[in-house]
Amino acid sequence: MSRIAYVNGRYVPHGSAAVHVEDRGYQFSDGVYEVCEIHQGRLVDETRHLDRLERSLRELKIRMPMDRKALSHVLREVVRRNRVRHGLVYMQVTRGVSRRDHPFPSPEVQPALVVTAKSIDPAKGVKMAEKGIAVTTAPDNRWERVDIKTVGLLPNVLARQDAQEKGAQEAWLVDADGNVTEGSSTNAWIIKDGALITRHADRGILRGITRTVVVEVLAAEGLRLEERPFSVEEAKKADEAFVTSATKIVMPVVSIDGQAIGGGRPGPLVKRLRGAFRRHSELAAA
Ligand code: PLP
Repeated sequence: MSRIAYVNGRYVPHGSAAVHVEDRGYQFSDGVYEVCEIHQGRLVDETRHLDRLERSLRELKIRMPMDRKALSHVLREVVRRNRVRHGLVYMQVTRGVSRRDHPFPSPEVQPALVVTAKSIDPAKGVKMAEKGIAVTTAPDNRWERVDIKTVGLLPNVLARQDAQEKGAQEAWLVDADGNVTEGSSTNAWIIKDGALITRHADRGILRGITRTVVVEVLAAEGLRLEERPFSVEEAKKADEAFVTSATKIVMPVVSIDGQAIGGGRPGPLVKRLRGAFRRHSELAAA
């Protein structure tokens, strides 16, 4: 079956889907994106993802390309046309197409919207979670507004490539004080003496939707949350560690820069959280 993408009002074969050479996303990274998990044919936490999309757009003074109801329809249509039961739907909005010049186009142009979807074998995630993943650390050299989910991901890409070259699956970014901010495409957590520790989301990280749901899971399960920075040294001495994201859900981390965490195997609390996650995420019919 051939994949279908949505590009600026049209459903087109994925292989020939294209944007204009002067799309500002392409030239300036002047755009934002969201990734929603598809579970059993349904969109996971769509409301929160669309809320965050609207916030990112507001911060950059880009209009929504269409109203929310219409966008929801497009997401579902792309999922349906690609027959995705398990996988992801990706949406990207840029400021639009205009002759290259740094200031915003004047008069304003129509924001550009691209939506794609892909299937992922759910067994892969299960297998990965049984083993846990390795992370490396790298300096966090991103700009200050990482709370906005922009398509400007070059530092994240370089850190992730470095991790991959070292045989790891994720890179944890580290600020000038030696504290972990977040992963290249995940939020970072450690567990010590029953407390779950993650950096507060008001500065220096993206407020992950999965992170927000996990915070709710902790409250419901009576587990202790500490929102504060933690150092790489502290993380290496943690009982357990994990990352959260729409694609990885709750994924155990079993080593940091080659040093085993929790005996090098996923621990009991991480397993419990991964199991509890589905009970707390919002599942909307696709
Ligand atoms: N942090 C960064 C830098 C990310 O790119 C992502 C997801 O792409 C996350 C955290 C996790 O966010 P979410 O749980 O909304 O997928």
